Amino acid sequence: MSEPFLPYGRQTIEEDDIAAVADALRDDFLTTGPRVEAFEAAFADAVGAQHAVACINGTAALHMTMLALGIGPGEACVAPSVTFLATANCARYVGAEVVFADVDPATGLMTPQTLAEALARADRPVRAILPVHLRGEVCDLPEIAALARDAGAVVVEDACHALGSERRFAAGDGRVGDGRWSAAAAFSFHPVKTIATGEGGMVATNDPDLARRLRLARSHGMVRPAGAAPWWYEMAEPGFNYRLPDILCALGLSQLRKLPRFAAGRRALAERYLASLAPLAPHVRPAASPEGSAAVLHLMTVLIDFEGLGRARDEVVEALRRRGVGSQVHYIPVHTQPYYRERYGELRLPGAEAWYARALSLPLYPAMTDGDVDRVVEALTEALGL
Ligand SMILES: *Cc1c(COP(=O)(O)O)cnc(C)c1O
Repeated sequence: MSEPFLPYGRQTIEEDDIAAVADALRDDFLTTGPRVEAFEAAFADAVGAQHAVACINGTAALHMTMLALGIGPGEACVAPSVTFLATANCARYVGAEVVFADVDPATGLMTPQTLAEALARADRPVRAILPVHLRGEVCDLPEIAALARDAGAVVVEDACHALGSERRFAAGDGRVGDGRWSAAAAFSFHPVKTIATGEGGMVATNDPDLARRLRLARSHGMVRPAGAAPWWYEMAEPGFNYRLPDILCALGLSQLRKLPRFAAGRRALAERYLASLAPLAPHVRPAASPEGSAAVLHLMTVLIDFEGLGRARDEVVEALRRRGVGSQVHYIPVHTQPYYRERYGELRLPGAEAWYARALSLPLYPAMTDGDVDRVVEALTEALGL
């Protein structure tokens, strides 16, 4: 096959990104330098938040937020089952329990209904609700925030898929990270995400005290009191070393400037997918968008009736691979992982299981062309025998 392989996602690194990293390498600071604060300020501005705290990856962003909120043993967090492991694991890192919420099988998102059902199952105080904006589609934040308020919990958005996404609600418009309906939002700059730094993460918040505690959690819990000797530091609580190096902040700054272009590229490709996939209904349907969606899609997930078509998903994945097309399943429901089964016993979440039975993510990244989308849809059509 002469055509290049299309992975399900990949970074877009250009010459000016490389030059920005080279400049940082020639500078005095490899780790805590001026680009860290510059990246944080530019990021806060891009998402419409008062504060942004950079860290080494999206998992650390979630963990630091749990630490900064003081969540711990005897408490619980609600996370949807259809997500990456880290959303649930961050509660366990601080000794809290996870209550898994089901999802809408058409969108893959936790809804106010599935959240209410999960809250009713909680057997201890729920401190945080962790909606995941799966694929870049934004959860119903105003309703989720209202339920959280009634439960005495805060909302922490797992926004790792959703940099640049927006959604119009009856209560007003929201941009992911603006903190209109949440205490904080966590982002990732893993190579498949909307902007890439290799490893990288950020927490956006409008709460200055939370931002201060996030910075403590990020760097050993160390404080240097004003007026103290230059070598003096104090620690009230042990923190971690979750700092994002100056070198990677240089890349993040350069990538962030491209967010409008990357977002436009993803939007155009998603539109082309929707048009070219339409003839494959009802066997193949793009995952649904919630009402008022103005998403920048991170994943192009389709829902395939493998059972009705009499096709095994692993054979379809292999047939796509032979045609130069990568694909991935987002996600195996986290409540079915051996660790969580062992801890919480068998739990039935029919929406998550129905989503998992049909989901397959197709290639989507800004460097793709319309021709690439056509090639993917052709390969899928053949692989499914349609
Ligand atoms: C990528 C991702 C994370 C974790 O981010 P890392 O930077 O890989 O640690 C957390 N949650 C979701 C939904 C993700 O996609």
